[in-house]
This record gives sequence, C-alpha cells and structure tokens, in this order.
Amino acid sequence: MRFAEIPGLDEIKARLIDSVNRGNVAHALLFDGRSGSAALPLALAFATYVNCEHPGETDSCGQCASCNKYGKLMHPDLSFTFPTAGGKKVLSENFMAEWREFVKESPFGSYSDWLNHINIRQGNIPVEESRQIIQNLSLKSYEGGYKVVVIWNVESMAAPAANALLKILEEPPEKTLFLLVTSDYNRLLPTIQSRVQRVAVRELEEQEMMDFLVNSRGQTRERASRTAFLTEGNINLALSHLGQEETDHKEWFVNWMRYCFVFDLAKLVPVADRFDEFSKEEQKNILEYGLKVLREIYLENVGLSQMIRLENEELTFIQKFSKVFRFDNIDRVSEAISGAMMHIERNVRAKIVFMDLSLTMAALIK
Ligand SMILES: [Zn+2]
Repeated sequence: MRFAEIPGLDEIKARLIDSVNRGNVAHALLFDGRSGSAALPLALAFATYVNCEHPGETDSCGQCASCNKYGKLMHPDLSFTFPTAGGKKVLSENFMAEWREFVKESPFGSYSDWLNHINIRQGNIPVEESRQIIQNLSLKSYEGGYKVVVIWNVESMAAPAANALLKILEEPPEKTLFLLVTSDYNRLLPTIQSRVQRVAVRELEEQEMMDFLVNSRGQTRERASRTAFLTEGNINLALSHLGQEETDHKEWFVNWMRYCFVFDLAKLVPVADRFDEFSKEEQKNILEYGLKVLREIYLENVGLSQMIRLENEELTFIQKFSKVFRFDNIDRVSEAISGAMMHIERNVRAKIVFMDLSLTMAALIK
C-alpha cells in the first residue's frame, strides 16, 4: 500500500512522512479512525514508506524489493495480528491467506466485513497472540530494516492479551515499530492509550470523496456527488454504495411524498410492497436520503441556502420541492423517519414500518 492509493488526508500523510525524515518515528503509533476510514491503509503505507529503499518526498518508491514485499503483505519483518476465532491454538498466522485477500479486496473494510470474510460471528485477540508477538520479536530482523507489528482492531484484545502487549510496549526491542489500528479508542486500556502516539484519522471531506470517486473509481460527477452526500466521508460505505444497483432515491422520495400529500392509499400500498422488496441496507438508504432532503429544505426555509450541499439538478429539486410541500413541522417529520429507520434496523417488517410511516407523514404534511 502506498500513500497515493489513499484518497485525500494530505495533512496526515505529510505529518507521518515528516516524522520519518526528521528521524523522529515513535515506536508505537495508534491509527484511530472510525470504521470504514483509512486507518489501516495509512498504517500500511507508513510501514511501506519507513522500509522503502528509495523513499521520495511524498511516497515510497513502489519499486524496490522492500516495497514489493510490502505490497503483497509478504515481508518477513512484517507481522499481523487481528481478531480470529477457533480457540487458543488458532492464531492470526493461520489466517494470513484470508487476511491478504481481504486487505487486497477491501483495504477500508470494517470489522464486520472481516468477520463475514472468514465466516465467523465473533472474533477476539487472545493472550496467545501477544505471546506470539513477543516470541517473533525475539528473533533478529531478516532484512535489517524495521520489524513492523500491525495489530488491527486492537480493541478486540482481551485484558490479558493487552496486558501482555503492554510489557513489550514499555520496553520495545530496537528498530521495532508497533502500528495499532482501532475504530473504538474508548475501549482501549488507558495504559495502552498512554503508551502510543495517536494518529487521528478523520473521515474524508466531501471534495476529497468526490475526487476519489471520479478520478480513481471512474464515476460520473453526479453519481459521485450523490454517493459522497449519502456516505459522509466513510470510504468503505462509499465503495459499497458503488457496488449496488442505484435506486433513484430522489424519484422514489418525490413520488412517495406526492402520494402521502394527496393521501392516495391505492398508490401507497403498492409503494410499501416495493419498499418491502429492497434489502435492509437499501431501505435505510432511501429513508436516509429523505432525512437529508428535509435538512436541506429546512436550510432553504430558514434562509440559510448558502449551506445547502446539493447542486445542479438536485438543488433545483429542493427549491421546487420546498415550495410545493409546506413542511411546517420538519422536526416531527424527521423524527418519524428516524423512528422508522430504527425499526427497520431492529428487523420490524419493512412493509408495516413503511405503511405506518406513510400515514404519519400524510397527517403531518397535509
Ligand atoms: Zn521502495
């Protein structure tokens, strides 16, 4: 993984590179970013850079023997620890083939994506993993560079595992680099938090996401804009959106509001049937889109139209829409939609949730 493969986040990359060039690399870094962020890719790009034989000003060379091995996650001085399952004899090293495949296919993948990938329901990092790390580090570096230990989803470490790790974090062997990755900082032991240098990995800004989707994923500006709008900087979510058949959320929402407005039951029932056929993810996407539209309409209504994030066709739509439908009680409409999303999340039958929501909406926007 090279920095160039990670969208945006220029200031974080620059700070990491700067620490190497100034010879000021902390021996333990914690990449802290929400699920779906670039935390793991940044850790990998950093490790690649540190060990590159011809590092440039902004990235590793991508050509040297070390970069090649890092690119395949097959460097003898690079080890990984991540949640697995199957008892204490089953360690991360038994899952390396699956792990390499996962990182290659979905470097921004979430913890639950990983569990799905290896087909387990719940993973953990047992104390044996920490022992394994300590044992590996007692061996000499194969290639003379840094030994790199990546611990992904470090919050999955049970207390004994974390405590065993702590010992070696306190007195690390020379030229060893611990790169911890978390999506839940608050679950880490305070003693771990205080022994690592935290690298806060933010979500992408809308423009960064747009550039990524258009330039690296070949999306049209329109689709990139909609995806960026819906996924709020979460790279993993944005990529999974691209993989789905796109429902025209706008058309769906407009028609639905129209039927609610005139209280056309003959139309609302088949709409609820179709809603029921969507995947749970898609159902939530549609309602999420509705919430976002309402937020923009609210901004339009209170004269804050400069804060509206949609553009072109979508913007015209908001302007027209807010004139036709008088949402005098946007709060309550939004609340009703949020409530419906929660019910869908809890597996209440979507058709019933949707019908119920439609009736509430009809009463509210009449
Ligand atoms: Zn290189």
